Amino acid sequence: MRILLIHSDYLNYNVKNKTPVAEDIEEAKKEGSFDDSLVVFTAVEKDDENNPEGIVKNLVSEVKKTNDQVKAENIVLYPYAHLSSSLSSPKVAVQILKDAEEALLAEDFNVKRVPFGWYKAFEISCKGHPLSELSRTITADSEEEEKVERKPSKWQILEGDKITQIEDFKFDNRAFKQLVDYELGQGASDEGEPPHVKLMREKEICDYEPASDVGNLRWYPKGKLIRDLLSDYVYDLTVSRGAMPVETPIFYDLDNQAIYEHAYKFGERQYRTDTKKKLMLRFAACFGAFRLMSDSYLTWKNFPAKIFELTRYSFRYEKKGEVVGLKRLRAFTMPDCHSFCCDVPSSLEEFSAQTDMCMQTGKDLNLDFEVIFRATQDFFEENEQWMYEIARKFEKPILLEILPERHHYWVCKIDLANIDALGRPIENPTVQIDVESGKRFDITYLGEDGEQHNPTILHTSPTGSIERVLCAMLEKTAIEINERAPMLPTWVSPIQARILTVGESHVDFANELYEKINASNIRVDIDDRDESVGKKIRNAAKEWIPYIFVIGDKEVESGKFQVTVRETGEKVEMTVDELIAEINDKCEGKPFRRLPLPKDISRRINFQ
Ligand SMILES: [Zn+2]
Repeated sequence: MRILLIHSDYLNYNVKNKTPVAEDIEEAKKEGSFDDSLVVFTAVEKDDENNPEGIVKNLVSEVKKTNDQVKAENIVLYPYAHLSSSLSSPKVAVQILKDAEEALLAEDFNVKRVPFGWYKAFEISCKGHPLSELSRTITADSEEEEKVERKPSKWQILEGDKITQIEDFKFDNRAFKQLVDYELGQGASDEGEPPHVKLMREKEICDYEPASDVGNLRWYPKGKLIRDLLSDYVYDLTVSRGAMPVETPIFYDLDNQAIYEHAYKFGERQYRTDTKKKLMLRFAACFGAFRLMSDSYLTWKNFPAKIFELTRYSFRYEKKGEVVGLKRLRAFTMPDCHSFCCDVPSSLEEFSAQTDMCMQTGKDLNLDFEVIFRATQDFFEENEQWMYEIARKFEKPILLEILPERHHYWVCKIDLANIDALGRPIENPTVQIDVESGKRFDITYLGEDGEQHNPTILHTSPTGSIERVLCAMLEKTAIEINERAPMLPTWVSPIQARILTVGESHVDFANELYEKINASNIRVDIDDRDESVGKKIRNAAKEWIPYIFVIGDKEVESGKFQVTVRETGEKVEMTVDELIAEINDKCEGKPFRRLPLPKDISRRINFQ
């Protein structure tokens, strides 16, 4: 925001014509005359839309600071678009000016606000003393201050129903200690590139796309396959638990009041378009699910109703310096499930079921979670025993945060995090109890009492973003590098088995084996290149392929081969049927997709 402050003996104005963006005003506001005024000419700018609250706060403090010096009788907020060439939407500008007016009134200033969007004639008399003309640029940068203003949370360790103060707690789990330290601001710094960034490129999974915005990735065939498999997994997981998949738009209109308030109030980092209509890209599936349910006829008998969307994509305008690898992106895929419940008490059972689902993903994906359970003081007092019940599920200590008052749309929230190789959390699954959005988005249901009510809504991401799941999997290989050979779980491995031929004469037999293995829903390929067996083995190891075997004269004759099993490091003699049985067994119950690459390595593109 650009402002020009003028200490004047008087200011007179009267409105002439309306512009298309003019606000509606009463007759009395069509003209005004103020003596001894600090006139604040303002131009709200595009960037201000990212954090209108921060702008209001800093504008008010700047005006107060100046007025402390000049001591004018009145403060006049005067919209003056000509101070900037990059203006915000009129809606945001008016809201910011109204909020600033209200904030100054609350501090007992005489505040006048001149109408927005009208052509006005005005006359001003500047006092001419050294402080009577000042220009300023107001930015939001309020995150730090916001933290200071809020009453601090109480942090403790919860183990079942036992609460321990952090300073009295004896940590025996390194990852949990790292999480607690990080949350309390004493943990590993966010600097430094986590190892998965190198791995995602080396394994031809994905990479940055310089011709897009930062935090928007390109995915190679192997990476696209992994994403699709993980997405299929979450789809099955949620749908088998009764969720109904939908698909909703990625763009939302900021002229819709509920969307605007949601985005405005929570000050999330909005990704916006430069189109004529003010559009923002969604944070997750919330807007779409809420809009869809607000247009639906609902009764208490429908509840809990679960709406699931795998958002490809969700968008957050993360700070450029914070965008890293698969961990923090501007565009990502979020599995987002919303459970619509009658009220908070009846949402608790659903919360428990959703927490179970989140925990299940840890088992299925072989990822270890550390846990933060958060609630407002009021919620904790009312639901203490229930919170202990949830805590007991984890069978280990978890971090408890009690917020003295509610700042967000939620009253209770559980966050499950993996820890990266540098000791920082990767925030993944979450369940939250939302007590605001039902009303804000005008979602109503017919209750058992015959009245209309707003539902309580749970937000659940059973895995966290798909990109972060993969991030956690890759980080885990780096953490455990001294204990086992790095690899992805077999069902996620782009290539599950590889046949290495010794020479030309073995290719036909290799092809026969390929046909059989491929027909059994296994991703298999053939290293048919004219290279030494040693080099082929090293290559397969670099690609983390779970099962590899060499086909030479002996194997063609006997029909048996020595399979190198990456997970155990062992060489096991197997027939083709035994190999198929072993891999199918390993991947049982998990989704399968075909190999998205030429089966012969000699024909493959090197993407990196
Ligand atoms: Zn949501």
